[in-house]
Amino acid sequence: MTAGESLLKLHFAEAFRQVTRRTDMPEIHIAFYPFAGLNHTIRYRRQSIYVRLSDIMRDAPSQVHRALAFILVGKLFNKRIGPEYQNLYRQYTYHPDVQRASDLAKQQRGRKFVSSSAGRQFNLDQLFARLNRRYFNSELPAVTLTWSARKSKRILGHHDYVHDTIVISRSLDNPDVPELLVEFVLYHEMLHMKHNPKVVNGRRIYHSAAFRSDERRFDQYEEAQAALEKLTSRK
Ligand SMILES: [Zn+2]
Repeated sequence: MTAGESLLKLHFAEAFRQVTRRTDMPEIHIAFYPFAGLNHTIRYRRQSIYVRLSDIMRDAPSQVHRALAFILVGKLFNKRIGPEYQNLYRQYTYHPDVQRASDLAKQQRGRKFVSSSAGRQFNLDQLFARLNRRYFNSELPAVTLTWSARKSKRILGHHDYVHDTIVISRSLDNPDVPELLVEFVLYHEMLHMKHNPKVVNGRRIYHSAAFRSDERRFDQYEEAQAALEKLTSRK
């Protein structure tokens, strides 16, 4: 965690104390996300607050982060907050440079108000729905699906338990990549939603034997493995 991020947490803790006047401090989880545009979300669940901030806000000045913390916590608990917070936040976000970054994010990331599940080539929402029907009896709950900001070939997919999010590497959002490979990578991450990690001798086991056996249920498992090898060996 960087100094900036822990300061950000302190702003949310301060906002929580002042807005709710409660003393039972929840755990606060904050992440920056590549939302399309200047959008942020906040949730309260089991004594924890989960915040996702538009990555456009990452480099905002600390007092703007603080203002945003008050705005979001006020919204979460349905409490009025002083107009100075809105003013400060608006002053920053109405700046032409910030507006431009926001417009660019909307263009590049496709949709408004939704994170970027629609890629140039593949739509993660559609693939998720199809796989959920085919392999999970449509029983997996909805998660946030998003393409990664960077084209990583080292990490093709990641399931974030804390934020209920699956991130797929943007390197796969490419016409040269077969759809079955994107499906397979997404299927693997969906299996992480089904198989919670087990703790054995103090170590977390993510890919248990049951996980691997489920993974082999993928219809075109061999083809997917071959495509995976081809992709990761390509320079
Ligand atoms: Zn895995």
